[in-house]
Amino acid sequence: MVTEEEWSGEVARSKRFRLLSPVIALGAFALIFVPCMIAGNAIASGVASYLVSVGLLMAVMLPLAFVLVILGERQQRLTDAKIQRLNAELTEAIASADHEAVIRDSQVQRQRFESRLANALDMAEGEPEVIDVIERSFGAVLPDAPAELLLADNSHAHLVRMAAVGPDGEPPSCGVDSPDRCPAARRAQIQVFGDSDDLDACPKLRNRPQGRISALCVPVSIMGRTVGVIHATGRPEVEVEDDRVDDLATLAKLAGARIGLLRVMAETQLQASTDTLTGLLNRRAFSEQVAAVPAHLHPIAVAMADLDHFKTLNDTYGHETGDRALRLFARVLRDSLRGSDLVSRYGGEEFAIAFPDCSALDAVRALNTVRAQLDAAVTVGGLPKFTCSFGITNAEPGEELTIILRRADGALMTAKSQGRDRVVLHDAAGATTSADEEPRLESFLNGQLSPADRS
Ligand code: GH3
Ligand code: MG
Ligand code: MG
Repeated sequence: MVTEEEWSGEVARSKRFRLLSPVIALGAFALIFVPCMIAGNAIASGVASYLVSVGLLMAVMLPLAFVLVILGERQQRLTDAKIQRLNAELTEAIASADHEAVIRDSQVQRQRFESRLANALDMAEGEPEVIDVIERSFGAVLPDAPAELLLADNSHAHLVRMAAVGPDGEPPSCGVDSPDRCPAARRAQIQVFGDSDDLDACPKLRNRPQGRISALCVPVSIMGRTVGVIHATGRPEVEVEDDRVDDLATLAKLAGARIGLLRVMAETQLQASTDTLTGLLNRRAFSEQVAAVPAHLHPIAVAMADLDHFKTLNDTYGHETGDRALRLFARVLRDSLRGSDLVSRYGGEEFAIAFPDCSALDAVRALNTVRAQLDAAVTVGGLPKFTCSFGITNAEPGEELTIILRRADGALMTAKSQGRDRVVLHDAAGATTSADEEPRLESFLNGQLSPADRS
């Protein structure tokens, strides 16, 4: 490398030589002129003496001029060599600056992708939105390649295709069915397969409808556990750029972290809203969810349920058996009612149930089915026989839940006083009737029972 010091030394030497050459020539000429003239006069006379003097002058000056020209050329060669080296160094520096600019540019692009991806995932409030971000990212990272995300289900035994894109509509369709059978997921390492026909290619790449392919498989981890893989395919022997591999690794990392966070949040929310013994909604979640039932799902029927003589069951068979009975009753409620009905453990051995978009008569029928199924489940489950009483009412539009529940509780008290193991309905006018006999109940709901018939 030519240093600045070397280069300025070279320039100074060149300059010095250019200045000194004429001075040396002139000095030499001045020094030998007089002696040559004297020698010329001494050797010859007249014109001949001038010719001799000039000849002597030439004889001394020509070798000197020759030496000066040789030295000048040598100095020029040295300077040219330095210039050439400088030129080469400059060209090299420009090439390396260009290369660095390309690297910096791709780093900037990747950082931009990462920050936009992080932003998009941060805004995704549920797993379907995260999946949508992943599918759009596939298009941005590998616009021409089919790609898919396979994630393990709850059992961790099966991989489910959560996201898939393909330029011609066809996803890569990897046939791997569990995380343990996917080399990338099992090794928790990015796998690049140049050709499905290679000896060391993943066996799952062979015999695809597309024929020979290359593949890139990036493992996805959620909360430290590898639970899936991003799988993209391409033409055989077509190498995927390192930047694209890094982008997919970033996608796998950020998407896995976001899904993990959403799952933890959902779990926490579920724990906060459920009763630990039965898994039903707790009182607070029940109130919130009833208040959130949209207007088009009104009218709502609301019931209070209370297990009969439960203290006796506890005292006779022990608290453990009591807990099993509570769990069994909760399961019967869940299994026999609709998924849209809101079922809660309201406290102790009391339960509150809301039936959106349901007439009181249909709700009474549903609760009588619960009674029948409880009877069967108690026998099958080998538990001591126990029953339940229900009070039910219609919620008027805009009514407060506490008022509705108070009315349902009133009907429940009537059910208890009438002998338990029954459904009693309370209408808005304050009348209650046992719901054991449907024709009588229907007359009651239609307002055809006389006050004397009401009990
Ligand atoms: P009734 O038919 O009038 O409702 O009589 P009951 O015995 O069910 O009513 P009571 O209110 O006297 O007793 C309720 C019992 O429920 C008391 C308590 O031992 C039991 N209980 C409340 N919560 C739990 C629980 O979490 N586990 C168990 N095993 N028992 C519970
Ligand atoms: Mg009670
Ligand atoms: Mg009770």
